Amino acid sequence: MNDYRESMPIPASQPLPPSSDSTPAAPDGTVTDRLVEANRHYAAAFTDPGMDARPVLKVAVVACMDARLDLHAALGLELGDCHTIRNAGGVVTDDIIRSLTISQRALGTRSVVLIHHTGCGLLSLTEDFRHELAAEVGQRPTWAVEAFKDLDQDVRQSMQRVRTSPFLLHTDDVRGFVFDVTTGLLREIDPRG
Ligand SMILES: [Zn+2]
Repeated sequence: MNDYRESMPIPASQPLPPSSDSTPAAPDGTVTDRLVEANRHYAAAFTDPGMDARPVLKVAVVACMDARLDLHAALGLELGDCHTIRNAGGVVTDDIIRSLTISQRALGTRSVVLIHHTGCGLLSLTEDFRHELAAEVGQRPTWAVEAFKDLDQDVRQSMQRVRTSPFLLHTDDVRGFVFDVTTGLLREIDPRG
């Protein structure tokens, strides 16, 4: 069923559905159909900003993929300002280092901001997730779950992984934060603990 409609507000730019006759209030289709339809409205009002691919603020933000974390709104960022690199937990994996390396060496960023958040799904997982997965599918994943119990400590570890990476050009401006999903506030983590 199309449960997503209950929780996703209709964008203001979208015309209201017909109020009478037999047409359903919401169109049929999958959530992806809805996104594609929203894109048509977006593109209709879109003008080419003529931007360069290099982020204006020369900053890369590494954050959890959590749906409650709106990075641009929370950090006052505009289109073109930064790179946003996200994964489950916002943990610094090899692939995050890959993106940061490209961000710095090919696209000119210099600063790194790391953001974890309260209520993260990774807090309730353990590496058992990986073992159970292997038992279920008969194949061990090549990746670690990177679950953590202590948010602050994991932010420190993430900062450390960035600072010690041999691939990065700029490791002097690396700062880490925890975003509180109930207040919207960032709390900075002291790298020294
Ligand atoms: Zn999270």
